[in-house]
Amino acid sequence: MNSQLKPTQNAMPPRILIVDDNPSIHEDFKKVLEVHEDLIPDIDQFEIDDFEADPSPQFRIDSAYQGHEGIQMVADGEAQADPYSLAFVDMRMPPGLDGLQTIEQLWKVSPDLQVVICTAFSDRSWEEMNAQFGYTDSLLVLKKPFDDIEVFQLAVALTRKWEMTRQAGLKQRELEELVRQRTVELEQAALHDGLTGLANRVKFNDRLSETLTRASCYAQKTAVFLIDLDQFKYINDTMGHPVGDDLIRNVGKRLSRVVQDAGLVARFGGDEFAIIQESVVNEQEIPLLATELLAAIRTPVELGESSVVVSASIGIAVSPCDAETPVDLVKNADLALYRAKADGRGCARFFETNMDQQLRNRREMDSRLREAIANEEFVLHFQPLFLSASGGVCSLEALLRWNDPNSGLVSPDKFIPLAEETGLIQPIGEWVLSEACRQACNWPEEVRVAVNVSPVQFKCGSVLKSVAKAINESGLDPSRLEIEITESVLLSDNADTLEQLHAIRDLGARIVLDDFGTGYSSLSYLRRFPFDKLKMDKSFVRDLNQADADAIVSTVANLGRCLGMETTAEGVETEEQYIRLVKEGFTQIQGFLRGKPVAAEDVAGTYLSGFSRVESGALCSDRIAWKSDELLHRIAETIDNSHSEASGAETHRQLVTATKLE
Ligand code: C2E
Ligand code: CA
Ligand code: CA
Repeated sequence: MNSQLKPTQNAMPPRILIVDDNPSIHEDFKKVLEVHEDLIPDIDQFEIDDFEADPSPQFRIDSAYQGHEGIQMVADGEAQADPYSLAFVDMRMPPGLDGLQTIEQLWKVSPDLQVVICTAFSDRSWEEMNAQFGYTDSLLVLKKPFDDIEVFQLAVALTRKWEMTRQAGLKQRELEELVRQRTVELEQAALHDGLTGLANRVKFNDRLSETLTRASCYAQKTAVFLIDLDQFKYINDTMGHPVGDDLIRNVGKRLSRVVQDAGLVARFGGDEFAIIQESVVNEQEIPLLATELLAAIRTPVELGESSVVVSASIGIAVSPCDAETPVDLVKNADLALYRAKADGRGCARFFETNMDQQLRNRREMDSRLREAIANEEFVLHFQPLFLSASGGVCSLEALLRWNDPNSGLVSPDKFIPLAEETGLIQPIGEWVLSEACRQACNWPEEVRVAVNVSPVQFKCGSVLKSVAKAINESGLDPSRLEIEITESVLLSDNADTLEQLHAIRDLGARIVLDDFGTGYSSLSYLRRFPFDKLKMDKSFVRDLNQADADAIVSTVANLGRCLGMETTAEGVETEEQYIRLVKEGFTQIQGFLRGKPVAAEDVAGTYLSGFSRVESGALCSDRIAWKSDELLHRIAETIDNSHSEASGAETHRQLVTATKLE
């Protein structure tokens, strides 16, 4: 509470000022007001003493002999937080101010001051006084000559009244202050995010409206950034919510530090932040801010005992070119954010006009894909890989197609990226593995089946279980299964990914590095996992005879030879390419020249006629006979560890029974 507002201490008797030009009057007042037991009236006569009062109030009495002097003393009393409660003011005080002029000034410096004006009959009338002050309860009129008890009782009553008025005023000011503080707190809560103290969505929207209005007057640009942390859910789930909260607070501070007074940083909730970049004069300021934000977020954060690196995706929309209203601007920034995520996250994307339509298309595609899964509309085509040495088929790569009832066969490039984004690749990928293994059981033992597995299946940790299940249910010899992965699987630098790869290999399957030479092509991948085969990307075959492609082609062939890995050249379309690649030393060739992908039912007729036929009935039990007891156990364990209902031992027993090995 403001110290000036403190009530006068109860311990101090009330202050009374006598303002009169006649010194003897002062003496009279003092005589009456200084406590004399005989003057104290019978308490029963006065009901004033509802105030749990001391029956014999003491007064501090001061004297002023002119109006000005009195006004000064009252002002000083206020300034020293020891105000006067009551003033007895004489009506006539020549040569200075008269009583009414004095009172007028007194109330200016001390509005609550109680005043008794002392008049003779010849002085100014009561009507005159009312005309000057209006009807006021702070002014009483005492006609001369005074009655002692009247004076004393006026002093008692008016000093009490002053005290109570003062207290009520203080209480009111206290309450007003409390209301003001609570209003500030409520405003803070209504407009700010509790965790970070940043603006919330409501404040963001208000500010954006103001900013856009102002910007339109000054022909300035305004950029809206929507920011989403990429791995927040993972951190929250694995490290706990308090750590997640720490991270959010930390990111909030970093964003504020970057933005400073260039605009406003808000948190919309979860790991979603938003920024208004105001007063943009030079358009280059926008990507510059985006770069700084991405870098600031990427700086490692100390969380508990570990240092965590997070990245973020950013969507940006700029007014007035992308939208002119707050709602549209945020909506467009959101579309751009969606694109940033689709483009692999960790990046910023600007809004483009066709994003809206693209999003609608994707949503439609997503729901059609879900229907496709339910209606079993997927089919596998198979494309052969030929041994360079013998020219015989050594493997068939399973290539997914969606047999869409409306548009016929849809190529995987059209729907796999979306399925990866939405997670639908998991059930789809599981089906591909099962179906490919099931089909391969109908082929000669020498022929393997290659299956493309998406990085997302590794990220979700579902791939090992899917592989084990496919092997288990089909009864395929695991050594006939080749899992094709791209470098991006290894990109996450995740120990877990390598574990999964080793575990798949422990089941007996082979691991192939597909599209080798594209992407990051870091040779360190080849050291981190001993692949069984390198599949050089078809772009190098297409570009053969260009110096750089030539160099890469021979390097890949050599690399495979030195590391003891098989090498496949894919996308071979001409005789010339074929001869050249065989010469370079590629151990296998794949491409339209020798074999296009065909439907599962055409595989045998098109590519396997050279092999001796095996009865399909006998096939399975024969095939399964290769499986050692130990391997069966491993497969059973894998399925069991992946939370299958049956226990490992139980699955093992089922397997052994099924394969008649007991
Ligand atoms: P990929 O793994 O590199 O597969 C080879 C692609 O090259 C196939 O296209 C194949 O038809 C095509 N191709 C083969 N020989 C030639 C040739 O001589 N010339 C040309 N121009 N192309 C040739 P497709 O079937 O359209 O598959 C495209 C991509 O889709 C695949 O590339 C693979 O990354 C992905 N994919 C296909 N099936 C699956 C699947 O079941 N799961 C996952 N995750 N991805 C798949
Ligand atoms: Ca492939
Ligand atoms: Ca490939």
